[in-house]
Amino acid sequence: MRNILSTLHDLIFVPKCGGCHTRMRNLEDGMCTSCHRLYLDEKDEFCDFCGLSASICTCIPQNMMIGGCIDYRKLIFYRKNPHTAPIHNMFYSVKRSYNLALIDFFADELYKIDKGMLPKDCVVTYAPRLKKSVKKYGYDHGKLLAEKYAKVGEYRFETLIKRKNKYGRSEQKLLNFRQRAANVKDVFSVTDEKAAQGKHIILIDDVVTSGATLGECVSVLYAAGARSVTCRSIAHTYRKNKQKNY
Ligand SMILES: [Zn+2]
Ligand SMILES: [Zn+2]
Repeated sequence: MRNILSTLHDLIFVPKCGGCHTRMRNLEDGMCTSCHRLYLDEKDEFCDFCGLSASICTCIPQNMMIGGCIDYRKLIFYRKNPHTAPIHNMFYSVKRSYNLALIDFFADELYKIDKGMLPKDCVVTYAPRLKKSVKKYGYDHGKLLAEKYAKVGEYRFETLIKRKNKYGRSEQKLLNFRQRAANVKDVFSVTDEKAAQGKHIILIDDVVTSGATLGECVSVLYAAGARSVTCRSIAHTYRKNKQKNY
């Protein structure tokens, strides 16, 4: 009986690693030590374009450059293969399972990129998700990530960007690179006319794929009078030798 109760207790209360889904006590940062090691290995992966490791590469996807982005950093490149499956799971855990420990971990990691060297008067914001996704999962993980980042860095957080209602666009993941850029064209606007005016802005996102969404948001912020827009994301999805994204 005691065994059954303790198994039940474990099933309900012992947290699951966001990467490999193993349940264990004393799970730090939402992941187990072997998934954490995998994450650290991914940070050391080299960028095919500049040859630097992901954590110091400053390459900017073309779609973001078109939007006017001049400062983009990411923690890892995300290359989908069986070896990196736990990384893939972590993103889903952040997106769909309300894994606050993982969101906090990635927000801390993003903050460490600049170690507080960005101007203190920066405003942190995010690219809002499709309304139907927010409704389905009950939260906007980009917002949570940006809020946590702002808290760690002692920056002000503001929702500066909104999705225009008249556009019921598709999910970006269902589209190819060219379609992605067209899909987000004119989808975003600033929350009010003065929202971005004269501000240094840090734009946070979880995963950049084609860069179309962030590129569009950057362009909207600059058009609304932003002084600078700095982009940070957990990952840049990137298929080795298959994608000429720079
Ligand atoms: Zn794990
Ligand atoms: Zn690079």
